Amino acid sequence: PNEQVQPDPTKKTLVVLGTGWGSVGLLKNLDTENYNVIVVSPRNYFLFTPLLPSCTTGLIEHRSIMEPVRTILRHKKAAVKYYEAEASSVDPERKVVKIVDNADGKTKGAKTAETEIPYDMLVIGVGAENATFGIPGVRENSCFLKEIGDAQLIRKKIMDCVERASFKGQTQEEIDRLMNFVVVGGGPTGVEFAGELRDFFEEDIKKLIPEISHRFKVTLIEALPNVLPSFSKQLIEYTENTLREENIDIKLKTMVKRVTEGAVEAEVVKADGTKELLKVPYGLLVWATGNALRPVVRDLLGKIPAQKDSRRGLAVNEYLVVQGTRDIWAVGDCAVAGYAPTAQVASQEGTFLARLFNNMAKTDAHEGRIKELSSSLNLKQGNSAEVATEIESLEKQLRRIKDVKPFKYSHQGSLAYIGSEKAVADVPWFNGNFAAGGSLTFLFWRSAYLSMCFSSRNRVLVLLDWLKSKAFGRDVSRE
Ligand code: FAD
Ligand code: NAD
Repeated sequence: PNEQVQPDPTKKTLVVLGTGWGSVGLLKNLDTENYNVIVVSPRNYFLFTPLLPSCTTGLIEHRSIMEPVRTILRHKKAAVKYYEAEASSVDPERKVVKIVDNADGKTKGAKTAETEIPYDMLVIGVGAENATFGIPGVRENSCFLKEIGDAQLIRKKIMDCVERASFKGQTQEEIDRLMNFVVVGGGPTGVEFAGELRDFFEEDIKKLIPEISHRFKVTLIEALPNVLPSFSKQLIEYTENTLREENIDIKLKTMVKRVTEGAVEAEVVKADGTKELLKVPYGLLVWATGNALRPVVRDLLGKIPAQKDSRRGLAVNEYLVVQGTRDIWAVGDCAVAGYAPTAQVASQEGTFLARLFNNMAKTDAHEGRIKELSSSLNLKQGNSAEVATEIESLEKQLRRIKDVKPFKYSHQGSLAYIGSEKAVADVPWFNGNFAAGGSLTFLFWRSAYLSMCFSSRNRVLVLLDWLKSKAFGRDVSRE
């Protein structure tokens, strides 16, 4: 037993899983005085994912895009409990979440701790895992690009490849392998990473290690006939042309089937429809083929009969309630609400739930007060005319509060960085669409993301990182 603040028995317990875009969108806007709020996440910080590709080359230092959850929660009206742990399963019958503090991975010698948390209301915002489609060799040989640790590993491995390629007497064949950086997946993650990598070599490695930089190559492999499938045709063309100008070798209609220690094996569909096998040696392989279900979500899907056909996540209704449940909501990449798995959607969903929950608390308070006043009327206590007017006004307010409109996503546009200080933007403009690509769009991209950073602290740090890299180049020391 420790001396932590005890939950208020008069309030419902709201458990929030995750500290990403969805959950933090909720926590930022939630009136925490209305509930006993408990947050569970293995990550004790919020991560501004749009700038994660820039961390792989050291253009931005990773701590500049992290915001500690403790700092976020400190500003809330009522205390919120946070447990650094992973939710391993949810029991919707008993209304408990099993949580595991896998301390072994963090503090040597510490034991794994496991416990249960009961909830009245549960919000699942655990995001997604990296999809590998069970392709052999992917997990063992590639780097992903989802978390801070991934970006740090990539940064280290890039310099590993460069330093090993520069080693005395290195064979030409080995230099070519080490200097081939292969990216699988031509979605925004793969394209942005390829662009950042090209900038790093052009702007820094060329100056620092000129003897090997001409051997540098980026190969971007995509199974579909084009990259960035969610962007407009004009921007897809612009992106592909820009990538080609940047000497990025784009291999379209090429599906990776197997990965071994030093090579990727893929099947290419040729113009005449025949298929060919291709072997691409690599020094570093970055796998960016989108999202897959997290185990806790898969486990829960199996426990709710109404979710038997859900494949991509927890199907939710227009109020983000998980279908087949009454007190579980889902937001972000783990929820299927009919929108793309993006930060924009997740954060709007989180904000919506905060409004909904703030409203629900008000409803409860109003209903309680109406009940109290009605019984005083029945007992003929006080001035009955005054009480009746108060009840009437409360009922009017209640009707207004209860009339919460369903969640509706408002698309603010898609933006992606494509290297050499160019970006593409698909932005809704009045009743049409505004599509732009180039250097001006790059400035728009930078200012948009700077303004979206979580805190002023993050904003200042990111700005300083950009200035620092411009003035002194990226830091290539390998930690
Ligand atoms: P996340 O933000 O991934 O958060 C999930 C949270 O759950 C994390 O805190 C995690 O630690 C926690 N968690 C995981 N497992 C458990 C568990 N078992 N129990 C409890 N907690 C758990 N989208 C855009 O709109 N614009 C962009 O520019 C953009 N750029 C991106 C760049 C990259 C490199 C990547 C990878 C994604 C990008 N996205 C972008 C997509 C965007 O990041 C995701 O759609 C968004 O993060 C989804 O939010 P979320 O809250 O569902 O999940
Ligand atoms: P994605 O799902 O958008 O793209 C993955 C790509 O990998 C697909 O085009 C798919 O065809 C390809 N692929 C799958 N298997 C393959 C194989 N075996 N061989 C070759 N190619 C294969 O994934 P992502 O880029 O990680 O993005 C995930 C989500 O995050 C998306 O919703 C995206 O919009 C969002 N995001 C947005 C931005 C941005 O707005 N700038 C940046 C990153 C991510």
